[in-house]
Amino acid sequence: MPRQFENLRASELFCPRCRVAQPVRERLLLVLPQGDLMDYRCQACGTSCGTREVRHPPQPPPMMRPPRGP
Ligand SMILES: [Zn+2]
Repeated sequence: MPRQFENLRASELFCPRCRVAQPVRERLLLVLPQGDLMDYRCQACGTSCGTREVRHPPQPPPMMRPPRGP
C-alpha cells in the first residue's frame, strides 16, 4: 500500500535523504482504472518522497435518464 497524503496539493514533503521538508516535483507514475498514481520527488536530490493516488471524479453512466412514458 503506497503512502497516502491528504487531498491537497503537496508543495513540500519530508525528504528522507535531505532529512528536511523539500519542495517536490509532481510526476505521473501510473495510470490506474480509478485514478492516477502521482509520484513526488525531491527537487534537491530527486529522491521519491512519496506517492499519492488522485482519483478521477465519478462519472455517471450515459444512460441514466428515466424512460419517458408515451
Ligand atoms: Zn532530498
